[in-house]
Amino acid sequence: MSLLVVGSVAYDGIETPFGKVDRILGGSATYISLTSSYFAKQVNLVGVVGRDFADEDIELLKSKEINLEGLQIDNSGDTFFWSGKYHYDLNNRDTLDTQLNVFERFDPVIPESYKDAKFIALGNIEPSLQGKVLDQVNDPDFVVMDTMNFWIAGTPDALKETIKKVDLLVINDSEARELADEPNLIKAAEIVRDMGPSSLIIKKGEHGALLFTDNEIFSAPAYPVIDIFDPTGAGDSFMGGMLGWLAYTDDLSAHNLRRAVIMGSVMASFCVEEFGPGRLKNLTEKEIYDRYREFRSLSEIPEVV
Ligand code: AMP
Repeated sequence: MSLLVVGSVAYDGIETPFGKVDRILGGSATYISLTSSYFAKQVNLVGVVGRDFADEDIELLKSKEINLEGLQIDNSGDTFFWSGKYHYDLNNRDTLDTQLNVFERFDPVIPESYKDAKFIALGNIEPSLQGKVLDQVNDPDFVVMDTMNFWIAGTPDALKETIKKVDLLVINDSEARELADEPNLIKAAEIVRDMGPSSLIIKKGEHGALLFTDNEIFSAPAYPVIDIFDPTGAGDSFMGGMLGWLAYTDDLSAHNLRRAVIMGSVMASFCVEEFGPGRLKNLTEKEIYDRYREFRSLSEIPEVV
């Protein structure tokens, strides 16, 4: 099944306790597309880049057979630039700079050939633009949306309008508390699911993730990554791995959703092992499935009697 990915395509400047890069390929749509391309038959990207976007970055996306028909090239300005700094607690980062550039005028236009996509990934962009994407597609089976505290605080009405239309919302623990205005995560999850999405994933940074559906709560373990260099893109890689897996299997059963959450965790664990998307360029099938098995064994609980 094909997957439609909408989000930012960016250059990032990143500083962590382990090093620094001034400019590296980034953006939510980039990470979601790269990670989902290991599973989904067809990944269709929608985004915008500026006149400075490098040919080698186009070639990287093409090498993963990501369809770029929906990637707008706006020669009137530069590509979106974001920079951030992480401290020893890699769950927290400070945004140092955000230059919207051509992203400020981004108007997601969905090409005709993308409109029948059954799986849709709405990366973290302005909620009204995410809604605009949904207005243009035909009859998707499964829509997943990411957002952030900036939109929860800044555009709550537009956010709630878009949330109503999605099947799965993916947010982190502090965002869930803020959106629900409730400190207890389990109660917050119920409140958020009442806003529309039948399923909710709450990411807890390096501590794993929780999946809430009608009948159950599933707790995904965190992988004990030893070589963690840069958490940038981990959340988007989680979304890409998860949705790529669902698009590949075309199976939305509760059982397969659990697999998808682990596949998301697998791709996020690779993402953090190098700066930017470096580690996501040349993964092998064996590496991916071996790590999936490691995840399984991490949380195998023996019977008590
Ligand atoms: P993550 O670490 O998964 O939350 O995502 C990091 C990516 O989000 C980086 O590659 C940034 O380029 C991108 N990003 C940061 N701020 C924004 C924003 N306001 N809108 C869209 N993308 C952003």
